[in-house]
Amino acid sequence: MALHKVDYAKENGLPIVLTTVDKLIQWGRSNSLWAVSYGLACCAIEMMATGAGRFDFDRFGTIFRASAKHAEVMIVAGTLTKKHAEFTRRIYDSMPEPKWVISMGSCANTGGMFNTYSTVQGVDRIIPVDIYLPGCAPRPETLQYALMILQKKIRKEIPRRKQKAKRLV
Ligand code: SF4
Repeated sequence: MALHKVDYAKENGLPIVLTTVDKLIQWGRSNSLWAVSYGLACCAIEMMATGAGRFDFDRFGTIFRASAKHAEVMIVAGTLTKKHAEFTRRIYDSMPEPKWVISMGSCANTGGMFNTYSTVQGVDRIIPVDIYLPGCAPRPETLQYALMILQKKIRKEIPRRKQKAKRLV
């Protein structure tokens, strides 16, 4: 058997990696973001396309779940009506901490073109939003990009994240 002598002081340094438990937890979290499937209008079609084979959300560790209790990301895709707002809040509340929200499309961000009595003028009036995704409708690549930004954000967060103040309708 060949015997290799490695001088760690001269080569590329010691073969060890130093990190903190917090960083390790956040790295793991950011790479397994399960999303509650929550499509409300036409933006949902683009969200569904993101999960299909061509764009393949799974490779980010992001799997769509039909149960809020298994999910840590809520992607609100589409127009939120005032009639539906209470259910949105209830689904958000049943997700375990820590959790994040992506608002997908102009309607979810600001009510879009529907400045009417029945439309919520932005989901951030109901729940705290982490990422706003512009467009009508944003393409699947945009949602992928939003997820990558969210992953970066999570890696920088401290594990016991404080809840932001919440606005109500
Ligand atoms: S932003 Fe455009 S595509 Fe998305 S739900 Fe509103 S109208 Fe439909």
